[in-house]
Amino acid sequence: MQRLVYIDGQYIAEQEAKVSVFDRGFLFADAVYEVTAVVNGKLAEFEGHIERLQRSCRELALTLPVTPAELKDIHYALIAKNNLAEGAIYLQLSRGNAGDRDFHFPSAEVKPTLVLFTQARAVIDNPKAETGLRVVTCPDIRWHRRDIKTVGLLAACMAKEYAHHQHADDAFMVENGFITEGSSCNCYIVLHDNTVVTRPLSNDILHGITRHSLLKLAASNDIKLEERLFTPEEALHAREIFISSATTFVLPVVALDGVAIGDGKPGIITRRLREIYVDMVKQQVQ
Ligand code: PMP
Repeated sequence: MQRLVYIDGQYIAEQEAKVSVFDRGFLFADAVYEVTAVVNGKLAEFEGHIERLQRSCRELALTLPVTPAELKDIHYALIAKNNLAEGAIYLQLSRGNAGDRDFHFPSAEVKPTLVLFTQARAVIDNPKAETGLRVVTCPDIRWHRRDIKTVGLLAACMAKEYAHHQHADDAFMVENGFITEGSSCNCYIVLHDNTVVTRPLSNDILHGITRHSLLKLAASNDIKLEERLFTPEEALHAREIFISSATTFVLPVVALDGVAIGDGKPGIITRRLREIYVDMVKQQVQ
């Protein structure tokens, strides 16, 4: 089936959907994005993603051309048109096409470009939940506003490419001796007394929507939690390591820089948190 994508008010066959060479998303990575999981043909954690999108827009003086309610309708129209049962919807909003390459933000008449498309994939039955991920560390070379979800993802691509060359699944980025986050996920370690440790929110990391829910679920399920920095060395000696993101939910990390974590298998706390999180999503999408 041919995929239909949304672009500035229209639903168009993917081959026909075009954005100008002068679009600021293309020229300057002057654009923000969101990725929302779809399960059972419904959106997971939609409100959180839209709130973060609005925050990203505020931080960059970008104007959303549609209301949150309209955005939700567009998401559901794409799900219906593409018959999407499980996967994700990618949304990108750029500062639009100013007709030339000029660093200054264009005048208000230049309309932002809004693009959305679907991606079909298994979200609940992810084989990595059983096998776990092998992760390597690399320096965090990103800019200092990682709390804004911009499409400037070259450093993340380089980190993933580095991991791939090391025959690993992903990379954790390290700055000033501490793990910031994964190339596209938040990171957690589980101490030997079962306390979950994750880096506190700041401009150093993306404020994950999955992270936000997970911390609430941990608290209501009597799982101890500490928000503080941790080093790769501490992670190596942790009982468990795991990650979270919108499309992977919670996944175990079984090796870091070639060293097995714990017994080299997905840990109990990680499994429990994945289960609790999946249950929450299933309730949302009933
Ligand atoms: N950190 C980074 C750098 C990411 O790209 C992502 C994925 N968007 C996350 C964390 C996780 O955020 P979320 O749970 O909202 O997907």
